[in-house]
Amino acid sequence: MKGNITFTMIKPTAVSKGYSAPILNMIHENGFRISAMKMLQLTENDAKEFYAVHKERPFYSDLVGFMSSGPIIAAILEKDNAVEDYRKLIGATDPAKAEEGTIRKLYAATVQENAVHGSDSDENAEAEGIFFFSMKDRF
Ligand code: ATP
Ligand code: MG
Repeated sequence: MKGNITFTMIKPTAVSKGYSAPILNMIHENGFRISAMKMLQLTENDAKEFYAVHKERPFYSDLVGFMSSGPIIAAILEKDNAVEDYRKLIGATDPAKAEEGTIRKLYAATVQENAVHGSDSDENAEAEGIFFFSMKDRF
C-alpha cells in the first residue's frame, strides 16, 4: 500500500547519548511498527551518497563527517500515512523551532545533530529503505 512506510535513522549523537531507547519507545507509542532495524556505522561514502541531494549546500561536508562519526540505528517504520505522520512526530529540522513534545524538541542538540532522520516523500522512503535493507531483512 502506497504511503504506509517511512525510513528513519537515529543519528550518531542521539545514539551515543543513550537516547535510542526513548526514541524507539516514542515511535512505538505513536503507532508505528518497526519492520526492519539495525545498528551500523556509515562510511563517509555511504553518508555522501545518502545525503547527495544536499551536495551543493554549505553544510554538506560537515553533515557527511557527522553522519559517519559513530554508529546509527536505521529502521523502516510502517503506519498509514507514515511519511507525514513521522515528520510531525520528529518536528522541525532545527530543534529550536521544533514543536513541544516532538523527538527533535526532546532529544536534538543542534540543527546538524538533530537526533533523527525522517524520509520526506513516499519515493524517498522506498529508496532509503532499499539503501539499507534487502527484502530478507524485512519482517
Ligand atoms: P533529515 O533529512 O535528516 O530528516 P530534514 O529533512 O529535516 O532532515 P534536510 O533539509 O533534509 O532536513 O537536511 C538534512 C540534514 O542536514 C538535517 O537533518 C541536518 O542534520 C542537516 N542540516 C540541514 N540544514 C542545516 C544547516 N543549516 N546547518 C547544518 N546542518 C544542517
Ligand atoms: Mg531531509
